[in-house]
Amino acid sequence: MNAKYARHLSVLGEEGQKKLSNATVYISRVGGVGGTAANYLARSGVGRLLLAHGGTLDAEYLNRWHLAHESDVGRPCVDVFKEEIARINSSVEVEVLGEHAKSIDDIKAFANEADVIIDAAPMFEERYNNNLLSQMLNIPMISGSMYAQEGYVMSFVPGETPCLSCLYPEKPEFWVDRHVFPALGTGPGIIGCLLANEAISYIAKGELQLKGKMLHYDLTDMDFNKLKIEKDHQCKVCSA
Ligand SMILES: [Zn+2]
Repeated sequence: MNAKYARHLSVLGEEGQKKLSNATVYISRVGGVGGTAANYLARSGVGRLLLAHGGTLDAEYLNRWHLAHESDVGRPCVDVFKEEIARINSSVEVEVLGEHAKSIDDIKAFANEADVIIDAAPMFEERYNNNLLSQMLNIPMISGSMYAQEGYVMSFVPGETPCLSCLYPEKPEFWVDRHVFPALGTGPGIIGCLLANEAISYIAKGELQLKGKMLHYDLTDMDFNKLKIEKDHQCKVCSA
């Protein structure tokens, strides 16, 4: 067993570690939330990461992006991710799609071999596409997002649990699609870490602790709650 993963063995066993090294994870958006997940998955020895993210790196990302440094400002984000993950763990294969998940056809072609989807997109258009991909290709999806000091994580399994569209048939009114939203660095870090933990648990042990549930937190009073997500039997995505 590779020394890099020595501390995993008593938790995951050699078999679990081997499953990680054979796994492919698709991550939609690789910023404060998805980049934290990518960081931990790379360190954990996941074999292949498929990263979808558009644009170039802004200085305002630096308070929360684990995969970026000051010298990266102005560079294409996906170039930075590839370089940084290679520095973290050269055993991880990285493939990139230099755009957000705005086209279902594009992400279907890019991520069809994924074992699990990590939906870390802040925009609902992308999140709905990731949900559709999950349902079409029968791939479990772990979804997480944050705003200011609140955040949540949920896990969906096609044919077994409700889907994202059961919970949000339409983009909720409280959700503001803002490119510059309030965020302390810690909030996205917590969410990204939880997303990675769910993915590792699923790949290595076949378990999703948040299957059909939402973990919601509010850091203003350190309140963490787990809520059950109800199936919508009229859902246009998973009940059709
Ligand atoms: Zn549904």
